[in-house]
Amino acid sequence: MRAAIFKELGKPLVIEEVPKPQVKENEILMQVKATAICIADIYSIKGQRPLQLPHIMGHEAAGLVAEVGSGVRNFKPGDRILGNAIVTCEQCYYCKKDLEQLCENHKIIGTDSGTQGAFAEYYKLPAQNIYQLPEEIPFDQATVITSPLASAYHGVQIADIQRGDTVVVYGSGAIGYHAMLGAMTYEGIRALVVDTVDQKLQLAREAGAVAIINAQHEDPVAAVNRLTDGRGAAVAIEAVGSLRTVNQAILSVRKAGRVVLMGAPWEKIVIEFDNYRKDFLFKEVKISSSITNRKDEMNPLIQLVRTKKIDLSRSISLTLPFEKINAGIEIVKNNVGNPIRVVMNFS
Ligand SMILES: [Zn+2]
Ligand SMILES: [Zn+2]
Repeated sequence: MRAAIFKELGKPLVIEEVPKPQVKENEILMQVKATAICIADIYSIKGQRPLQLPHIMGHEAAGLVAEVGSGVRNFKPGDRILGNAIVTCEQCYYCKKDLEQLCENHKIIGTDSGTQGAFAEYYKLPAQNIYQLPEEIPFDQATVITSPLASAYHGVQIADIQRGDTVVVYGSGAIGYHAMLGAMTYEGIRALVVDTVDQKLQLAREAGAVAIINAQHEDPVAAVNRLTDGRGAAVAIEAVGSLRTVNQAILSVRKAGRVVLMGAPWEKIVIEFDNYRKDFLFKEVKISSSITNRKDEMNPLIQLVRTKKIDLSRSISLTLPFEKINAGIEIVKNNVGNPIRVVMNFS
């Protein structure tokens, strides 16, 4: 099979023939139809998330079942599928407490060293990481479900959204944009979106945000207050990952507000209150962080996409043939045109 191999830091991936992965008893081999580039892949390419090289990256894939292991009953060759690449150990303290998203030994197939990812014609995963993909969902949109939508939706679950809530989302990139779509599956939600790039704000507007706030031009905390009768939003979702937006998100919620922090900054973050009593203590604000997703969230999420309660039609910024993967990586790395998702297709 052809695979894009990460051989050397600072060099393009090399497309080469390599042997197909061999499935074990409870594994499924996917014939990859679409595979997307994630920011996690870019961290590895930049050396921020070091990998043992050579390595085949990619963890956001959808396609067809090519082969099933002898122990797999619920899938057969030819089934349309998507994969969620997070493998948990089922043995550790957190797994035993039904907190698999916090597994101490969790591994992302394709993103962690010693695993083989989906920048290839074939890709294997444990059967429990594979989900049936309804006909209504195209393969390129399915790649969005596997990782950015799954992570964003997990954060939305943590936010404890109630009917009629105003939800402010900081950052309209892959996580923030999809968190907004996830939040809007609740009834009567007013979504406000903060970003500094007009193009991303326009996309959020088209997808249903009732108000967009460009933080270059106005103070987002003041804008959120203005749009909520001075109270603040019920929920703030932070998906930028900067010192400023983490602090702004916390200051944007009303009393009994919930803040979910999903951005992943590398730098030190300090949370500061000019008036701790007024701005935090007397408000009973809940602050949570959110990372990755849970298996039991996947099928409900796939149904939300199938029934168009979550519309992923604007999520794919660019599709390229697999052979152009290095061009795709450059686009994501340099944020050319602010893509939500760049997807590689196998014809
Ligand atoms: Zn991802
Ligand atoms: Zn575990």
